[in-house]
Amino acid sequence: MAITETTLERAPYLAGGAKKLFINGDWVEPVQGGTFDTVNPATGEVIAQIALGTSEDVDLAVRAARAAFEGPWRAFTPVQRQNVLLKLADLIERHWAELRMLDILEMGSPIGPDISLGASDLAEYLRYFAGWATKIHGETTRTSQAGNFFTYTAREPIGVVAAIFPWNGPLANTVWKLAPILATGCTGVLKPAEEASLSPLRVGELIQELDLPPGVVNVVTGDGDSAGAPLANHPDVNKIAFTGSSFTGQKIVQAASGNLKRVTLELGGKSPDVVFADADLDRAIPGAAWGVFLNSGQICCAGTRVFVERPIYDDFVRGMAEYADALKVGNPLDPQTVIGPIVSQAQLDRVTGYLKIGKDEGARAVAGGDRLLEGELANGYFVPPTVFADVEDSMRIASEEIFGPVASVLPFDDVDEVVRRANSTQFGLGGAVWTRDVGKAHRVAAGIDSGVVWVNTYGQFDPSMPFGGYKMSGWGRELSQHGLEGYLNVKAVWINTD
Ligand code: NAD
Repeated sequence: MAITETTLERAPYLAGGAKKLFINGDWVEPVQGGTFDTVNPATGEVIAQIALGTSEDVDLAVRAARAAFEGPWRAFTPVQRQNVLLKLADLIERHWAELRMLDILEMGSPIGPDISLGASDLAEYLRYFAGWATKIHGETTRTSQAGNFFTYTAREPIGVVAAIFPWNGPLANTVWKLAPILATGCTGVLKPAEEASLSPLRVGELIQELDLPPGVVNVVTGDGDSAGAPLANHPDVNKIAFTGSSFTGQKIVQAASGNLKRVTLELGGKSPDVVFADADLDRAIPGAAWGVFLNSGQICCAGTRVFVERPIYDDFVRGMAEYADALKVGNPLDPQTVIGPIVSQAQLDRVTGYLKIGKDEGARAVAGGDRLLEGELANGYFVPPTVFADVEDSMRIASEEIFGPVASVLPFDDVDEVVRRANSTQFGLGGAVWTRDVGKAHRVAAGIDSGVVWVNTYGQFDPSMPFGGYKMSGWGRELSQHGLEGYLNVKAVWINTD
């Protein structure tokens, strides 16, 4: 059965209109009436038209979010906000299969293995933040000033949040942004990526079932120029919660300077994955492979630089190549598939460009290395898991973010050297170390300059653990109490009791 036939059957939302924006509790046509196509990357076929939001729509959405923030939403008690999040969690759980299907059709993450950026846990993420809604409070303090003062702090919602995010986990990104917005009592304008708008729009429909005051959550689709930039520049937005490339992150910072918005940035990476000779290779090889090939490598924290201690380098390269060759690439609706397509023609061109660059630089592709064009793969954007050996740190494939299923495997000789080389990048998002020596594990974990380090595992996420980057991988954190703080202001109150 062709993927497009299953589309309407399994994702009824597509039969309705994705052509509207969710503003002030209603589905509205974009002011300028424009649309753009969204494409199934497995087939190259257009699956829906999406509303092209522009600055007028952004302005309406921000106004609605402001009115909700200053109006009825503010009166919601913590326990009411908690219950909103719990209800949304139940709705996400109930509609999870359909939401997943939208992501599969629009960005190609396979249906089989649970590699959907933790999508199955997303209801739990909301429940975790539901717990925080009732625990946001300040403290009483004792100052050293002369006189009698009663002093306390309060933590207050920051206001209207612009949540701008990429396509590599549309549902996950939607939930990661919505959870702290609702828990803290902020309001939000969500701007999904132009490549993947459907599940965020469907979440907008689920939001309608929550009977929230209109405007608490708004969804404005469109591209970066039409909708993203006006939202980031809008003078009545208090905070931008951005996930995307470091390049766009820099533009976000500039846009935020107009009214000095608060900004959190979750950006790109070139994460190191360090394998010592004493590691359990039966775990380290699949672990490192998943760390880079998951979601076709379209993961910000992918462990794309695999440093392997020299005595096991050849065995490791052989093992990783065999592992990569055995991963089934293809139709994301086939339960046997583990590697789906790259999200778009533009990303395909970028990834295949790096395959060529790697070969031209002298690296050796021991697995993959070329776009797949046989049979049903010809119309889609398929790149096999690729393992490059004989890579040097200075090569572009070892220093630039590719955002595809491409691993560079590099030999190393000792701990200090590998830590230095692991850190010789502008990024600092993730990293891992594989060893049976707990002392070495700690030394490397302490030495790597990144927001997350995994030991003898890769890519673990939990709402209680902060996620974010050092250096050009970002500002601030998502998830956990650290993530929550990014949506709050702190107020100091002095009361003269004399
Ligand atoms: P991108 O930066 O091109 O786009 C991200 C979002 O920003 C999209 O919604 C886009 O429309 C919008 N945008 C583009 N230009 C804008 C502008 N001038 N003003 C405001 N918004 C604008 O990123 P992408 O190509 O969609 O996603 C891939 C990148 O995202 C990779 O670099 C990846 O590492 C990063 N990423 C990071 C994380 C993380 O948590 N650190 C997670 C996922 C992806």
